[in-house]
Amino acid sequence: MTSYCEYLHDHPEDTLNKLYHDHEYGFPLEGDAALLERLALEINQAGLSWSLMLKSKDAFHNAFEGFDVDKVAAYGEQDVTRLLADATIIRNRLKIKSVIENARRIQGLRTEFGSFQGWLDAHHPLSLEEWTRLFKKTFVFTGGEIVKEFLRSTGYLPDAHDPDCPVYGQIAKLQPAWTRGVRNVVLGEHKEKDSHAADHPVR
Ligand SMILES: [Zn+2]
Repeated sequence: MTSYCEYLHDHPEDTLNKLYHDHEYGFPLEGDAALLERLALEINQAGLSWSLMLKSKDAFHNAFEGFDVDKVAAYGEQDVTRLLADATIIRNRLKIKSVIENARRIQGLRTEFGSFQGWLDAHHPLSLEEWTRLFKKTFVFTGGEIVKEFLRSTGYLPDAHDPDCPVYGQIAKLQPAWTRGVRNVVLGEHKEKDSHAADHPVR
């Protein structure tokens, strides 16, 4: 099984994935808009290729107004219709409505935790299984695969990059959440699973 890091080492011409791998994947994110955006990308990617998701990433950012939590949480049917008519993004009613509902769930976390980020930090570290249970209780459209990739890509779980990948060291210096503790992570477990179809890199 080729890892995302190995794939990009061998395919530097895949600019879209290389930029994401080198500058975004696994890097800690600041702020709830950025976290909601990443969660939205993982939800919208479900069942599709990550390359397709990356191609429409900027369009998603614009269509969802930068993923401002309060703006998205206030979206009504008109906005759903607007988004479903936008050919530049992945148009799936269930996914779009899930992103809106999750923005509302984030608002609901503010009283106790201050923010989505505060909620994540308050629960870290958990094992992937514990995180998945908690996400399912708290959000919608957050199955195990989406939770795993969301947490890896935002630095709450390790394993985004292979230890011999140059980006691994760069990220470790930024002290993502996983450098502050890891719980019950079965090493190697994640890498055996191909979360995406065979025509694009494992990520
Ligand atoms: Zn890497």
